[in-house]
Amino acid sequence: MNLVIALLGLLLVAAGVMWWRAVVRLRTLQERHARELEDRRAAQDAAVAQHRQRLQALLDSMIEGIVVLDQQKRVAIANRAAVELFGMSEPVEGRALLEAVRHHEVAALVSRLETEPAVLGHEIRIEGASPRFMQINAVALREPNGTPGGAVLVFHDLTRVRELEGVRQEFVANVSHELRTPLSLIKGAAETLLDGAKSDDVALGRLLNIIDRHADRLRLLIDDLLMLAKLDSGRVVLNVQPSALRLAVQEVIEDLAERAKTRDIQILNTLPAGMMAKADPDRLRQVLSNLIDNAIKYGRPAGTVTIGGRVLSEAFVEVCVRDDGPGIPPESRARVFERFYRADKARSREQGGTGLGLAIVKHVVQAHGGDVRVESEPGRGATFCFTLPR
Ligand code: ADP
Repeated sequence: MNLVIALLGLLLVAAGVMWWRAVVRLRTLQERHARELEDRRAAQDAAVAQHRQRLQALLDSMIEGIVVLDQQKRVAIANRAAVELFGMSEPVEGRALLEAVRHHEVAALVSRLETEPAVLGHEIRIEGASPRFMQINAVALREPNGTPGGAVLVFHDLTRVRELEGVRQEFVANVSHELRTPLSLIKGAAETLLDGAKSDDVALGRLLNIIDRHADRLRLLIDDLLMLAKLDSGRVVLNVQPSALRLAVQEVIEDLAERAKTRDIQILNTLPAGMMAKADPDRLRQVLSNLIDNAIKYGRPAGTVTIGGRVLSEAFVEVCVRDDGPGIPPESRARVFERFYRADKARSREQGGTGLGLAIVKHVVQAHGGDVRVESEPGRGATFCFTLPR
């Protein structure tokens, strides 16, 4: 009897131990499973975060602005370019489209996507201190079951293209105008000659003179235009070498001596003898020639033109051309380096100017790594200074 009870007790203890071990094992398994699930979820979250980060980096590296909208027309994704284009305030995600881009035409475009799969090449103008132009491509997104799933908008900033187009059109209009003026004078003189004026000696001399002068003007204009086109396209290769500035100035003064004499202008070269610059000698002559020629053309009759210079720093020297003429009004000072800009149109034309000389000077000096500026007090002359590397 006692033995039976002992055996039963033993059995019970063994069953208890087995049950306990089973429970512990089950719990361990459950815990491992939970841990594995957690690890897997963390790995998935990390993969999603990495994927999102890569997508954002990819979108942020694009020049075009990209906005992805959800079904409720709220911003789901906006890249950096879009945030900058529309000055969106962060956080952008979750904002209504109109609140984010603040442009009714964009909202109207998105509404069109309810009936059209895509709207491509739509252009809008964004008003502001300076207007901006944007081309938009919008595509509707669909869920796999065909229901609307939001939209993708791609914004291409056309402002710079439009600006350049404007500059090009203005340039072409200016060139045509500048070419037409001397051409019609030449044509007029030739017609008058053909109509019989050639038999009149006085008229013949006068008309041939007109043809000669305006043909020269055409040639100058074409030379300057070709020079600017070359500079623009970077086709001018600078043959930079140590150049003695005083000597370069002296040579230009000699070239222009006849012109200076016609206006009774005295030219002084006050550059220190040993001053050197790293420059292409031909281009340097062109810069000096344009500035000194202007000083003669626009300076005071019987006045003085002075060319001076100084060492600015370890790296740069500065050369200045000063006249004692009427100077340049403040509103024109910043513009005289623009193509075809003239502070005094009548005077420039009368002197045979092309309106391109200072634009060429600026281009050439900048190609050398220097800069050019003008100082002038009305009535007290003008001083043009440019820098060159030493
Ligand atoms: P232009 O062929 O008309 O001389 P530039 O480009 O050389 O063209 O000069 C642009 C304009 O700047 C000139 O038309 C003139 O009005 C003004 N300008 C240039 N140099 C001087 C100067 N030394 N004094 C006064 N005005 C000047």
